[in-house]
Amino acid sequence: MRIYRRKAEIRFLAAVLVSIFFSVVPQVSVPGNAQAPAVREIACLVRVDDIDPTIVIEMRYATKNNFTGKQIYPVHVCVLHKGTAAKLIAAHSKVKKDGYRLKVWDAYRPPHVQRIFWDLVRDERYVRNPAKGGSKHSTGGAVDVTLVDSRGRELEMPTLFDEFSERAWRSNNSWSPEARENSDYLTKAMTEAGFEPIHEEWWHFEDSDAAKYSPVDVKLEWFVAIPESVS
Ligand SMILES: [Zn+2]
Repeated sequence: MRIYRRKAEIRFLAAVLVSIFFSVVPQVSVPGNAQAPAVREIACLVRVDDIDPTIVIEMRYATKNNFTGKQIYPVHVCVLHKGTAAKLIAAHSKVKKDGYRLKVWDAYRPPHVQRIFWDLVRDERYVRNPAKGGSKHSTGGAVDVTLVDSRGRELEMPTLFDEFSERAWRSNNSWSPEARENSDYLTKAMTEAGFEPIHEEWWHFEDSDAAKYSPVDVKLEWFVAIPESVS
């Protein structure tokens, strides 16, 4: 009985701590849309699918299908700085009008993951050195994207994701005409929404305001643990 009571007390204490945690996490709602679900927000980061559930999310580092061959992220969740998320949704709305959708391969990347990638690749053309400020991904201000058609099939692009070679460079002349056209279309949609491309990776785009954002160290699991409905 004593042990049972102790367990009950621990459960009660845990419930109190969880409720305190959720009460201090700032929550925002989509303005002007009473039907929209609440948007989970921690340290200016938000879940992209809270804002637009029609965007396709395939977080490669939450699977083994990535250049490391290992699952790096503990949960499958797409998180960005709220300003960057708004721009991404604007780009997504543009391509949707043409019958396409954006598919996200990577977004917010916790700083400790950047250190794992740096230790594996050690090439500053492809992975930013954590000792020199790290990646814009760790601010939530960078996103890796491609395009899918109305049936969810990926459009032809210059390379697969995380091709760390000159084949992924924008200056590469060996891209097929279709891959070039699709990449140009994606780049146009993203830049018009406020992103900047980089030369070495056709899939990587940085929010033009990303320099204003600081790297933040939060756990992706937190965005899954927060209840769907918050008051
Ligand atoms: Zn990237």
